Parts: sequence; C-alpha cells; structure tokens
Amino acid sequence: MGYKTLIHGTIITMNDDSPFYHDGMIIIKDSTIESIQSSDVSKAKGDIINVNGKILLPGFINTHTHTHSPLFRGIADDLYLMDWLKKYMWPAEAFMKEQDAYNAAKLSCLELTESGVTTYADQFYYSEAVAQAAKESGLRAFIAPSVFSRPSPETDDPLSAAQAFIENHINDKDSLIYPCIGPHAIYSCNTETLKKVRDIAKEHDIIVHIHISETMVENQDSFKEHDLSPTAYLEKIGLLDCKVLSAHNIHLDDHDLELYKKYDVKVSYNPISNLKLVSGIMPYKKLKNKDLDISLAMDGVQSNNAFDLLADLKTGILMQKMHENDPTLLNAYEALKLITINAAKCLYFDHEVGSLEPHKKADITMIDTHRANMTPLHLDKFEMVVSAIAYSASSADVSDVMVNGEFIYRNRQHLRLNRENVKMACQTSSRRILEQIDYFKT
Ligand SMILES: [Zn+2]
Repeated sequence: MGYKTLIHGTIITMNDDSPFYHDGMIIIKDSTIESIQSSDVSKAKGDIINVNGKILLPGFINTHTHTHSPLFRGIADDLYLMDWLKKYMWPAEAFMKEQDAYNAAKLSCLELTESGVTTYADQFYYSEAVAQAAKESGLRAFIAPSVFSRPSPETDDPLSAAQAFIENHINDKDSLIYPCIGPHAIYSCNTETLKKVRDIAKEHDIIVHIHISETMVENQDSFKEHDLSPTAYLEKIGLLDCKVLSAHNIHLDDHDLELYKKYDVKVSYNPISNLKLVSGIMPYKKLKNKDLDISLAMDGVQSNNAFDLLADLKTGILMQKMHENDPTLLNAYEALKLITINAAKCLYFDHEVGSLEPHKKADITMIDTHRANMTPLHLDKFEMVVSAIAYSASSADVSDVMVNGEFIYRNRQHLRLNRENVKMACQTSSRRILEQIDYFKT
C-alpha cells in the first residue's frame, strides 16, 4: 500500500495531549499512522489526498450490536422486552439459516460503515458467516459467538460452536477479526454453561460479551433464583474475573457498582434500545464516578431500527442530562470519547485504535461539513467543531471511512461492498423468514 497523506483536514485526534489541528495532515504508511502535523505539502509522502472541508476523527467504535438484526427491522415495534423476544425475535430467528445471517451481517456492515463505524463488537450465532461478512466489508470486528444453554438455530451445542470459532480465529493475527465469547445473559445461560464460558474465556484470554441487568424483571428473577443480583451472581461463579464487556447495565445497586469497579467491568451504554424497550436509564454518572471505561453503542436493529451512531450519541447525551437534571453533565468532547478512545479501552484495544496518534492503526472517519445542518461552522474553533459532531451531525454527514489504512467508503461510495446487491439479498432473506412465521397473514 505504501504512503499516503491526507492533507488540509480539520483533525480531532481524541488524544488529550494534542487534540486539534485546524488545518492538519496525516501521513499514513501501509496500515499505520506515521505522523500528524499542520499541513505542509512539502512534507507530504505518497499519494496526496486533499480533504479540505472535512473533519477527521478516529474511526467510530460500536461496542454492542447484533449484525444479523436487520432481518427483523420494523417487525415488532412497541412491545415489552420479553414479549418482543419470546413472541417475535426468537421464533423468527429459529427460521434463520446461515445464508440469511450472512446476508444480514453484510447489510449491517454497509450501514455501520455509512455511520462512520470502523470497529464493532458483535454478539450472535452463525459467527463464521458474520465474520465472513465483516472480512468482505473491510471492517474491524470483535465477534462473540452467542452462547445459550439451549440449542440455537445454528447448532444443538452453541458452546462447542463458540469454542470452534474461537480456535479457528485466535491465532489469525493478520485478520481484522478478533474472537470473543458471548454468553447471552443470566436468564438464557444456566450456571454450568456460564462456568464453561468462564473457563474458555480464561484459557484464551478473550472478552466475555454479555448483557447485564437490562430489565427490572431480569434482576427480580435473579434474586428469586439465586438470592443475588445478576452482577453478584456472575461474581459468585467467577465470570467477572474475566475481561467482561457488559451491555445495558441499567439496574445496578451500590454493591453492583462496587463489583464493577473491583473487576473493571467494561460498560456499553445503549440509549436508543433502552428507550425503545423502556428498559430504564443506565446510571452513567455513578459509573463515571467509579472511573470505569464507558462506551456507547447501538444494540441490534430490532431494538433501534437504524444504525446511526451519532443519533444514538445525541440521544444518549440528552437522556443523561435529563436524568440527572444537569445540562453540564456529559459534554460534547466527553461524549465523543464514548465512541472513540473509551470504546477502544472497552475492547482492550486502545493501544491500536480509538485516537489518531502516530503508531496507531489508520482507522479514520471523515465528516463532510457542507450540508445545511453543519452551517455555520468555524473550523478553527475546537469547541464548535466538537459540538457539530456530537449534536448536529448524523450518518448523512459521514463521507469517508478508512480502516487499517484502506478506504472502504470514499465520497459516500462503498469501495468493497455493492450496496444494491447487499440490500437485495437481505430483502429476500427477510421475506422468506417472515412468511415462515406467518407475519403477512396477521
Ligand atoms: Zn444486545
């Protein structure tokens, strides 16, 4: 690939030591950032790409999603979580075949790219198909095969399937696929399964990607069955002693917060999903006061309806301000950390991505500043630029995405995926599955 230089961009590095270049340039060698400095064409190397009028940020990181989920976009809105899961999601998933998961995961990659995401953490089964879609898209993917104590549509033995996936990918250091393990939740995995997950995670030193305390019902059932909160129960069986990435984290008491601190649980905040399913509001301020690593994510399309990370970010910020009755809470720069450097920390990958710095991977998202919603904008004023990203921009403003030094999206055109073919394949899969659950007859 050699050298290339992005010149005349406005750069938000998310590195607190040198956060901003009004007119900056990034020199990239192969997959890695070599230097960041003020623009000087005499110092540029390789292909020179003028990005004047664009804001360059570290590629966005989405720490919790389910990429098969576009198959179920819009089929079961306006329901409680358990009705939604038991009446619609799990029955529909039962008819999903590997090809459907692949088609849907590719559509997710298309949409994630268009929203500026360069790295995502997925949890689902058919992990090989999901990984294949990720590889073709060029995105960086932390893929956790879902583990349930019951059979999945893929296999009668999800735990063995997860183990095979991990062993297949753990030593492939050149790929952008990073295997994790995904015990779905304490209500879908029994104690024996969770203990086996713990052992596999420790053996391979991988992330355990799980949902914790998403609903009040989950907590009530946990107290009934184990006489412990979900978090305390997970501690008792030794699972918190792994690298835990937890989605939702809503109904946490003071003891749970202590345990999060003690075991350095990584937090994924999913505001739109939580609002849509009326699950509750994650106690951001309390988690922040514990100095935990917090990120922000989209969850699946079933509980979000769209992958637009900046829309989730704005919603997530506003929810917390309202919740704490404090407009000074979670300012725009702190918010951007939730989808960049802090999200990288949640994936134990901040040595490689999450900020624009020499020696890190060239994962870069560019925001076009020419649409009406981004005007007026004075690119020499750092606070105004940060505000524009956090509050004014959406997926529609993302113009370019680079992963590992390679443009996968350039001037709003996909360079790896064929948008129309990917959409058509997912449309076909969706129709067949929904006909099988008699969706069109009711
Ligand atoms: Zn989820």
